[in-house]
Amino acid sequence: MSIPFLGLKDQYAALKDDLKAAIDRVLEHGLFLNGPEVILLEEALAKHVGVKHAVACSSGTDALLMPLMAYGLGPGDAAFTTPFTFIATAEVIAFLGATPVFVDIDAATFNLDPARLEVAVARVARQGRLRPRGIIPVDLFGLPADYDAIRTIADNYGLFVLEDAAQAFGGVYKGRRVGSLGHVAATSFYPTKPLGAYGDGGAVLTDDDALADTLRSIRQHGQGAHGYENVRIGLTGRLDTLQAAVLLVKLAALPGELEERQRVARRYTAGLSGLYVTPAVPQGLTSAWAQYSILSPHREADILRLQKTGIPTAIYYPIPLHLQRAFAGLGHQAGDFPVSEKMAAEIFSLPMHPYLSNDQIDRIVGVLTSD
Ligand SMILES: *Cc1c(COP(=O)(O)O)cnc(C)c1O
Repeated sequence: MSIPFLGLKDQYAALKDDLKAAIDRVLEHGLFLNGPEVILLEEALAKHVGVKHAVACSSGTDALLMPLMAYGLGPGDAAFTTPFTFIATAEVIAFLGATPVFVDIDAATFNLDPARLEVAVARVARQGRLRPRGIIPVDLFGLPADYDAIRTIADNYGLFVLEDAAQAFGGVYKGRRVGSLGHVAATSFYPTKPLGAYGDGGAVLTDDDALADTLRSIRQHGQGAHGYENVRIGLTGRLDTLQAAVLLVKLAALPGELEERQRVARRYTAGLSGLYVTPAVPQGLTSAWAQYSILSPHREADILRLQKTGIPTAIYYPIPLHLQRAFAGLGHQAGDFPVSEKMAAEIFSLPMHPYLSNDQIDRIVGVLTSD
């Protein structure tokens, strides 16, 4: 019997009636864009996170891009981020003509290392070739980055902090929800994220009133006071009403699902720690457990053993961004970010979702711990 990696079919079975009713309501009212569910979702997201504004949009990538457009990021600007993430985090910086400046990660949390960040920001400021503008920490695999330290550096250098919370919606940092930890945050509703739609979607979260106004304008072709007045260059960045309807149902189920993800993570860690490097969760933080990732010096053999018994795995991420061809222009080479490179060589992710049974987890642990 094979074990699903993501559990989306189980989730659909659990929420089927509510999902179908929600989708039906949209088909009946016919407001497929800017419909009432979009407004309701934005209110619910802002309330859940504890920020003033949620601006729903077409993807997590656009949720990263739009605040950078609003801040006017462009050529000559530097934005600091991790090379151990999904391409979108750094892609949006380069897309606007600015320069991604990579900073290596902490080996225990897989997140941006604040000590290295401070060194990198000071170096770029001193060299004077690029203007330091902002930091984009990623809450990787669901675990919030070290925001106390990151915000101190940002304040010292007058930088914005854009939280890439694409994988972490539902996580907590010292009593505050993910999405509220920088000046602005981007999250993704890609189907496999902890809060996933049935297609693409995302949201920007912020307490900044002026920024939220600009984001709403950018989302709709730089719209001004009315539909055919355009005051800036923008995007077709809206979220479909159908996706908003789906997300309202899934958001209501999220707290219970997060509890189940904690159960799964606890059981994995109890069974695997000692034999594998299991994920570290610093005191006061809660991961949303988008992924449960472990380190193994014999990764390929482990993956093969699991595969033979019907247990799927995934590697996030096999190539750190500084070694991707897309960023060849930055002139990096192997050895530039050794922690990220070591993770890329040793990490792999196990099935992680709220619907994994304890028996299934024990089976996975059993395969990994038998000799
Ligand atoms: C998924 C993801 C994104 C992009 O989200 P999309 O909705 O796929 O555009 C950005 N950053 C990280 C870290 C992600 O995991």
